[in-house]
Amino acid sequence: MIYPIVKYGQEVLEKPGAPVTQFDGDLERLVADMFETMYAANGVGLAAPQIGISLKLCVIDVSCGKDPNSRLVLANPQILATEGEQAEEEGCLSLPDFRAKTARPLRATVQAQDVRGKEFTLSGEGLLARAFCHESDHLAGKLFLSHLSRLKRESIKRQIRKRAKAGEW
Ligand SMILES: [Zn+2]
Repeated sequence: MIYPIVKYGQEVLEKPGAPVTQFDGDLERLVADMFETMYAANGVGLAAPQIGISLKLCVIDVSCGKDPNSRLVLANPQILATEGEQAEEEGCLSLPDFRAKTARPLRATVQAQDVRGKEFTLSGEGLLARAFCHESDHLAGKLFLSHLSRLKRESIKRQIRKRAKAGEW
């Protein structure tokens, strides 16, 4: 099932998700739906709050569905370590059409549980490190806007307000 994606302005995007505690068939179904929703939107990551579910759960696939081995499910992720810096364009499915150069660590190590509750630790570089950080932020109620300069952030918010007023958001 493809869920509608919640856009910036909805409260669920700016509050921390609840920890995942039930690793059951319902969670497996939710994860499958999250992958389907993410691929349909051409995203490389999707966090549960983005479909209106306030849980510390996200899916990532930096191959955009081309490589089944790069499908990742992260429940209750925690960034353990970061290294270096990168500043590439970043976007978010909850902020369609807005992209901005965003500083992130070049490498990141994350600890999380998989869909069955098994703990694992994984290190990523480049886009994968960026996805770990972006999605972990979502689960803490944070958006990539918070990493931009105040000027850039206010400019994006202003454009969104304008669109919302016109009924286009
Ligand atoms: Zn996002």
